Amino acid sequence: MNKIYLGSHVSMSSPDFYLGSVRSALEWGENTFMFYTGAPQNSYRLPLERLKIEEGRKLLKENNIDESKIIVHAPYLINLGSKEKIDNYELAKKLVINELQRTKAFGCKTLVLHPGNHLKASKIEGLNNIVEGLNYIFENDNTDVKIALETMSGKGSELGTTFEDINYIINNCKYSDRLGVCLDTCHINDYGYDVRDIDHILDEFNQIIGLEKLLVVHVNDSKNPIGAHKDRHDNIGYGTIGFETLSKYIHHPLLINVPKILETPYVNEKPPYKKEVEMLLNNAFEDNWRENL
Ligand code: FE
Ligand code: FE
Ligand code: ZN
Repeated sequence: MNKIYLGSHVSMSSPDFYLGSVRSALEWGENTFMFYTGAPQNSYRLPLERLKIEEGRKLLKENNIDESKIIVHAPYLINLGSKEKIDNYELAKKLVINELQRTKAFGCKTLVLHPGNHLKASKIEGLNNIVEGLNYIFENDNTDVKIALETMSGKGSELGTTFEDINYIINNCKYSDRLGVCLDTCHINDYGYDVRDIDHILDEFNQIIGLEKLLVVHVNDSKNPIGAHKDRHDNIGYGTIGFETLSKYIHHPLLINVPKILETPYVNEKPPYKKEVEMLLNNAFEDNWRENL
């Protein structure tokens, strides 16, 4: 089935939890979305029984939403790239294993993970730490959830900034069939890829990694110029990437069926996603939409 799967990051909070997340996505005209199973910045996780998962899944079903296209994002404190603090490394592996279980409990198939930071170690040591960590994780996991390694902008000692580095991790992992990629337009721009040249980007991705490995696209504008190594997302059409380019990522034939997720900032504490989704699906930018929100 050829279909555009477009949604945004949605929060999951008390009292309705997953049911509330699904309601938000539907209200914003989305047929997929991404969520964290708890706070992104810590490892505290409410028990699954509290999260109204069955209610949320029922509502998805009533709306004919394919829940295999819904994405979970792992907490971003997880760092498999460094063994400097061995306790943190051990904890990171356990947290990913737990998130794989949680992802499965929601009926989802894809967990987005930031590859990690090498900190004081060399880059290659960092990449090998990630490979070793992922091997351990998959050895100790009985789900079929895939991990999508996110392309990073290169701030600090972030790993996974280039298609080559991501491919190194995938190729050296014993369970490479469990790995894929999440391409983030803001991150690749900020690292130094010419995100505007979509055909060239996809061609390069295909040559180096293989397009069949592309599991998710994060569609974000960027507050910074190409190569800034910053990672600050902007609203669609307000940053340095621009509406025209971002819309191409939504409609490109090679990306049909790949879920696309907006992670753009709130505007005056309000979620911008309904408007951004509408404009992108219609491939029509509305001048001053952010000012008028
Ligand atoms: Fe991310
Ligand atoms: Fe992202
Ligand atoms: Zn980012």
